[in-house]
Amino acid sequence: MEEAVLVADSELQQPRRRPVRTVLRAWLLRCPRCGQGKLFSGLFRMRSACESCQLSFEREPGFYLGAIYFNYGLTSIIATMGFMVLRFGWRMDAQQALAITVAFAVLFPILYFRHARSLWLGFDQLIDPQ
Ligand SMILES: [Zn+2]
Repeated sequence: MEEAVLVADSELQQPRRRPVRTVLRAWLLRCPRCGQGKLFSGLFRMRSACESCQLSFEREPGFYLGAIYFNYGLTSIIATMGFMVLRFGWRMDAQQALAITVAFAVLFPILYFRHARSLWLGFDQLIDPQ
C-alpha cells in the first residue's frame, strides 16, 4: 500500500508527456520543451541551446545519429512506395521511374535534415524529459 503511494508521488514529479505537442513543435523546428525557441539559426546550423528556456540542443557526441535513422527510414519508405506507384500504378518506363526515385532519394534527405534532427530531439525529450 505504501509502495503505491511512493510510485504515485514520483510520477507527479515527472513532467507530463505530450506526444502530439512534441511532434508539432518538432515539425515547426521549435524547442521541444517550451515551443518558443528556434532550433536552427541558419539553413543547417543548429543553435547550441534554446534562447527561451536554455534547454541544451548540444547533447553527447553521436546523439544526432538517431536523426539519420529517421531521415534514412522515411526516405527509403517514400522512395520505395514512389517507385512502385510510378512503375506499376502509372505504368511509367522503368528507367524514368528509377531516375525520379534516385533524384528523390538524393534531394529529400537534404530537405528533411532539419526536421529529422528536430524530431529526434523531440523524441528524446519525450522519452527522457530534461
Ligand atoms: Zn525552449
